[in-house]
Amino acid sequence: MSTVKEQLIANLTAEDRISQQKITIVGVGAVGMACSICILMKDLADELVLVDVAEDKLKGEMMDLQHGSLFFNTPKIISGKDYSISANSKLIIVTAGVRQQEGESRLSLVQRNVNIMKTIVPDLVRHSPNCKILIVSNPVDLLTYVVWKLSGLPATRVIGSGCNLDSARFRYLIGEKLGVHPTSCHGWIIGEHGDSSVPLWSGVNVAGVSLKTLNPKLGTDSDKEQWKKIHQQVVESAYEIIRLKGYTSWAIGLSVTDLAGSILKNLRRVHPVSTMVKGFYGVNEEIFLSIPCILGQNGVSDIVKVTLSSEEEALFKKSANTLWNIQKDLVF
Ligand code: NAD
Repeated sequence: MSTVKEQLIANLTAEDRISQQKITIVGVGAVGMACSICILMKDLADELVLVDVAEDKLKGEMMDLQHGSLFFNTPKIISGKDYSISANSKLIIVTAGVRQQEGESRLSLVQRNVNIMKTIVPDLVRHSPNCKILIVSNPVDLLTYVVWKLSGLPATRVIGSGCNLDSARFRYLIGEKLGVHPTSCHGWIIGEHGDSSVPLWSGVNVAGVSLKTLNPKLGTDSDKEQWKKIHQQVVESAYEIIRLKGYTSWAIGLSVTDLAGSILKNLRRVHPVSTMVKGFYGVNEEIFLSIPCILGQNGVSDIVKVTLSSEEEALFKKSANTLWNIQKDLVF
């Protein structure tokens, strides 16, 4: 007696589907799942793979997403503990690791998350030697350096999500102050994703009109309008959200998906992401910090050489020194 499937479907070819746009997400916590849902909603992947050490949570998250398949165009959503499942990924997004507790800085997480990267990265690269890796786990700049070293990949293919989120928060807050949508408010935050990030007030503009030419004190202590507070809010926002809801997830998920789109569709858009900055702005060490980068199918293909004011360059150098003082003592 033939099965319903045999009676219904006349099969003509053996299944030979090879995923072209395979994305693996390592870590199915709050951030990994926000990235997953955003990537699915944006149709970026034809195969989405989830990896985590917490097996029940992993299976539960996978099933929950699979049951939404009717509403996605991603035909394959799978999960597993073994990294062979991630083989031939185009993009690997690393969100695994411990997160900040209330009041804790990103930098304090470093050695615990370095140890986790040691257990993840060699396997990932063995199975996907041509991948790009996007690091999200904190402290993201230091971990991007560590993953670069552990992976043996060219620095151009190991990217930290860096200040892409900080810049999105900056543009949202500028937009709120002006009553203009953030896509029309241009502004960049570079340097460390964290407490020493550097806002480039000289470049803030709407429709090419520089706000600094309208208010030369913009971003300084003596500015009566106190635009500087916007950057303080950006720096404090993760702390505040963690105090309020325990973790941050939606904005980072959206911002990582934006980066994934540029990479997978080879868009060559410019993003403030963490890349190797040795040789730029007076940095002499192998440090990863955010600067505007062109992102495409090969990762960071180019860097946009922004002219910094002497004050901005000094702050960038300070950001680099802060990281170097920790990085030089890392054990991995
Ligand atoms: P979470 O605790 O919700 O999830 C972390 C996940 O990592 C857990 O599911 C855990 O099982 C998994 N994990 C731990 N060790 C692992 C290993 N060895 N292999 C595989 N998986 C492992 O944390 P979260 O809120 O999702 O945050 C994740 C990371 O992202 C944190 O480091 C956090 O600070 C960082 N983060 C970065 C940004 C950014 O802008 N770069 C923004 C928000 C959060």
